[in-house]
Amino acid sequence: MSEPLVIIGNGMAAARLCEELAQHALGRYAIAVVGTEPQLAYNRVLLSSVLAGDVPASDIVLKPASWWRDRGMTLRYGAAATAVDVEARTVTLSDGKALPFAKLVFATGSRAARLPVAGADLPGVLTFRDVADAALIARTARAGTRAVVVGGGLLGIEAAYGLAKTGAKVTLVHLMDRLMERQLDARAAAMLKRAVEAKGIDVLLETATARFVGKERVEAVELKEGRCLTADIVVVAVGVKPNAEIAAAAGLAVNRGIVVDDRLATDAADVFAIGECAEHRGVCYGLVEPANEQAQVLAARLCGREARYDGSINATNLKVSGVHVFSAGDFLGAPGTESIVFADPGLGTYRKLVVGEGRLVGAVLYGDTADARWYLDLMRSGVAIGSFREDLIFGRALAERQAA
Ligand SMILES: Cc1cc2nc3c(=O)[nH]c(=O)nc-3n(C[C@H](O)[C@H](O)[C@H](O)COP(=O)(O)OP(=O)(O)OC[C@H]3O[C@@H](n4cnc5c(N)ncnc54)[C@H](O)[C@@H]3O)c2cc1C
Repeated sequence: MSEPLVIIGNGMAAARLCEELAQHALGRYAIAVVGTEPQLAYNRVLLSSVLAGDVPASDIVLKPASWWRDRGMTLRYGAAATAVDVEARTVTLSDGKALPFAKLVFATGSRAARLPVAGADLPGVLTFRDVADAALIARTARAGTRAVVVGGGLLGIEAAYGLAKTGAKVTLVHLMDRLMERQLDARAAAMLKRAVEAKGIDVLLETATARFVGKERVEAVELKEGRCLTADIVVVAVGVKPNAEIAAAAGLAVNRGIVVDDRLATDAADVFAIGECAEHRGVCYGLVEPANEQAQVLAARLCGREARYDGSINATNLKVSGVHVFSAGDFLGAPGTESIVFADPGLGTYRKLVVGEGRLVGAVLYGDTADARWYLDLMRSGVAIGSFREDLIFGRALAERQAA
């Protein structure tokens, strides 16, 4: 008989786990997926492209309803898990029903962090995490709307770009001295700032938000320096918070995320966590590739195979049309590493590769990102680059031609 496996969360990590289980252990588990969002799992990464009007919302669904049905998986979407009893092995849902489990996986992702300032709950102060957020932003913004985006990370820039494409007049406010400081060095960030400004977006760096002002809804953003920016809509993109409260209430070890070991197991028997809600070796990843890698390892283990998760290399691509930015690994260069840099300001191209102990450990590409995948593969495989180091910066084609 199939063992009941309950997955809480119907996002990207859950979908990947189900895909792996369907491939390697179809029928071994009776799988039920519980998801708060009232729709099939979708590619959240593409929400920015949906907001920018580059991809229709209907195109981002990961798998049609028939895929789940044909594999005997039960989807309970539009239903939140509200409690877990690890002793009784049940998950309670928002409609009061209880699902029994033999194995349980938390794949609850994260939610957008709110700014702890006055006015943060005013109508018109929005976040950008799911389809509903993207739809609300798109409904609110139109030509002439004055929009302020708080947060100059990947998500904030993509939200600003999406808003600008609707014809809104957008100001991007960022606390730090450069955009995407967690992915880019100063030089690449300066190039990015110019490109973002060229899209008609005003960028304010080293600028802190004091509060949101408005009566019925937001009307302005007051900055700590005292200035006020008029705003019909504000999008706050200042980070995420793992959805770990239910796990904590169930007595599982939770720091920032749900603590898991190299088997993706929590400290409760037969209870696992993957994706953005999980904390592995002190790290909560905020990207889809680590979630996929975790899903793969967990699926292997649930199929009875040996597998271990050792952590992931962070790698990101910005999704702003015409602005090609890639960053991975140790992009700043820790002590003991060496940086190889190539720049052509005329072409708007910048490359920085970080080498440590004869291996590629980090990369920033601006302008031409065609070799991003190759550099990432070199980082992941940890292959020695000594034999083609002199050509490394010029990309795969040259390095491989010289090596042949
Ligand atoms: C606009 C945007 C752009 C992004 N761009 C990139 C990118 O370019 N590259 C990249 O690597 N990553 C990107 N990300 C991040 C990426 O989408 C996430 O890392 C990925 O979705 C994580 O997968 P997950 O399954 O852990 O979480 P999610 O995909 O968030 O799924 C979690 C699901 O669990 C549900 N849930 C939560 N609590 C409960 C509960 N109690 N009961 C039932 N269901 C629950 C949530 O509603 C959600 O549907 C982007 C994210 C956003 C929002």
